[in-house]
Amino acid sequence: MLIWFSIFIFIIALGLYYFAHQILKQKGFSEGEIVFTDIDKWEKKKFTLYDKNYQLCGRPDYIRKMDDEFIPVEVKTTERINKPHAAHILQLMAYCYLVEQTFSIHPTYGELHYPDKIFQIPFTTENQQELIDTLQMMRRRLKGRSVNREHNSFKKCTHCGFRDICDQKIKSIKSLH
Ligand code: SF4
Repeated sequence: MLIWFSIFIFIIALGLYYFAHQILKQKGFSEGEIVFTDIDKWEKKKFTLYDKNYQLCGRPDYIRKMDDEFIPVEVKTTERINKPHAAHILQLMAYCYLVEQTFSIHPTYGELHYPDKIFQIPFTTENQQELIDTLQMMRRRLKGRSVNREHNSFKKCTHCGFRDICDQKIKSIKSLH
């Protein structure tokens, strides 16, 4: 009798695990413990990552712990696409860099979650160099002068890889009216 009861409990636990896994998948979450989050309804810990070398700060939607790594995850809810935007990749690489500076552990990749696809983007030396080149170029251009936004496109700002550090970003469509 006890053996049948144990099997019954095991099957129920398996079913619950599968159900929870499917819900997380539907919500765009992947496996691994979520250690930080920027999503309001997840009241865990608000955080901002900061690097003083490049005066870069940012906040991925969440960071999950996989084995010994901290993986930044950025969730894009509005688009269905076949491949990630270059600006989104650059933004994610900035988060990988910030995670590395914060935890002193190199994340081998970051994740971009779109409504129907998840992309794992490797945080390679080349991707890191491209990020640093872009940051240095921006700093050079901005040095000693104030550069004003030259458009009124909310969409452009939403997709921009520098929205976290830009003080001229359009925060909502309402702010344009
Ligand atoms: S976030 Fe800033 S840099 Fe990016 S498109 Fe908007 S105004 Fe330009």
